[in-house]
Amino acid sequence: MNKAFVREPDAGTPLCPHCGTPGILVGEQALASFVPPVEWSGIAKPAYFCDYPRCPVAYFDEFERRIDADKLTRPIWPKDPQAPLCGCFGLTADDVRQDVAEGGVTRVRATVERAKSAEARCAECSPTGTSCVGAVQKLYFQLRGGSG
Ligand SMILES: [Zn+2]
Ligand SMILES: [Zn+2]
Repeated sequence: MNKAFVREPDAGTPLCPHCGTPGILVGEQALASFVPPVEWSGIAKPAYFCDYPRCPVAYFDEFERRIDADKLTRPIWPKDPQAPLCGCFGLTADDVRQDVAEGGVTRVRATVERAKSAEARCAECSPTGTSCVGAVQKLYFQLRGGSG
């Protein structure tokens, strides 16, 4: 494998060519589900996901080729604040915000429980192809700790 173009050989993780956020390795099922066929030739595998909300880049590869979020088959979290955190159960940031406002974890816990079950389809429904539990928990703690 040719590593000559990887900018940070020590970390081993390519950085987003637009904002410099370390990429998250993306599963192939997720790529196939979010990237329309017409864009497939624009990016090599392995592909990485930029999860910085205000960056337009969704996926990129080790050669700094990119596919922007507005080219994908549907809106994705966190590029679109209205999009579900994971398509499998449709939990949105608003749901998490309501939990935080109520001081409870009803919605978050329900999704986390379901995401661990056989119903979960994160491999194709979450933008990275990994379990959405991490994204849900990260947002919950961000909202709970961030506001005050
Ligand atoms: Zn980026
Ligand atoms: Zn999921």
